[in-house]
Amino acid sequence: MTISQVQARARAAEDRLRLCASSFAIAGLTALILWVAVADLLRQGRLETVLSAGRAELAAPALVALVVATGICERIWPAERRPVLARGHVQDACFLALHAIVVIPLMTLLSVGAATLIGSYARWIELPTGRWPGWLLVPLTIVAMDAANWLAHYADHRLGALWRFHALHHSQEELSVLTSFRAHPLMHTTGFLLATIPVVALMPTRPIAPVLITIYVCIGTLQHANLRWTFGPVGRVLVSPAYHRLHHAPDTQRVNLGVVLTIWDVLAGRARFPARGDAAGRTGLDGRPVPVEQDEAPGPAVLLLAGQLAEPFRARG
Ligand SMILES: [Zn+2]
Ligand SMILES: [Zn+2]
Repeated sequence: MTISQVQARARAAEDRLRLCASSFAIAGLTALILWVAVADLLRQGRLETVLSAGRAELAAPALVALVVATGICERIWPAERRPVLARGHVQDACFLALHAIVVIPLMTLLSVGAATLIGSYARWIELPTGRWPGWLLVPLTIVAMDAANWLAHYADHRLGALWRFHALHHSQEELSVLTSFRAHPLMHTTGFLLATIPVVALMPTRPIAPVLITIYVCIGTLQHANLRWTFGPVGRVLVSPAYHRLHHAPDTQRVNLGVVLTIWDVLAGRARFPARGDAAGRTGLDGRPVPVEQDEAPGPAVLLLAGQLAEPFRARG
């Protein structure tokens, strides 16, 4: 082996070992929020109660039924026809398992920890809404939470440190309802921090009814379905599968960032409404910066999942 070959090998090994500091910083921030939540809940003796309430909201039978019903619709009216066991579906099913085991408790604790931190260090944001009627306050809070989620999604695309985690969600080339669960667990931290601000500001003492959270999650899940549905006139206000699919195209990620409502995209000049009958465009990331199951030799799904989760921590060349 020549000296230059040895040097090239050493450089390649060094590159593999180079780590991304910003990703570790986000992991550290997440760990801090979780620690605050667990310490607080243990002190109150409510850890198990809160975790099961979170499970009831985020894994509600209504959501499971919606995923199954959407899966059946995808077989009947697919935007893109492909086998049930297409690689993308199998990989996203692994992400669904990760979501059920890890992400649901993580999300529950993130919302508790974010509320505890914001409530203790920024109590001044609480508004005097004690006498406001529920019919006004609850929808207002949910709309404000949706705005916060839009802002977090905008930040995911604008800031490199956040994009590293969000890229995995966009790497899917075979979009289906299961892609809603294809997300790096550390992608959720900014969203929960931002979405908790309107909750603490508007409803500091009253909890939002769990059923409303479940409805919100259901609408947010349907958007990845492999369907051409535009929702007709309702699709001007609610994010439809065809609308969100445009956000997953390799060249139009700057548009259609809405999570449930389209109004934030309209206000930001970033809404692109699909027309009925439009062909389903390609999805995924050009150049495949994240390892994907559609690669030539992707390896076993679980090993690939581990590689996809580790990817944001490696420095990109
Ligand atoms: Zn995105
Ligand atoms: Zn998406």
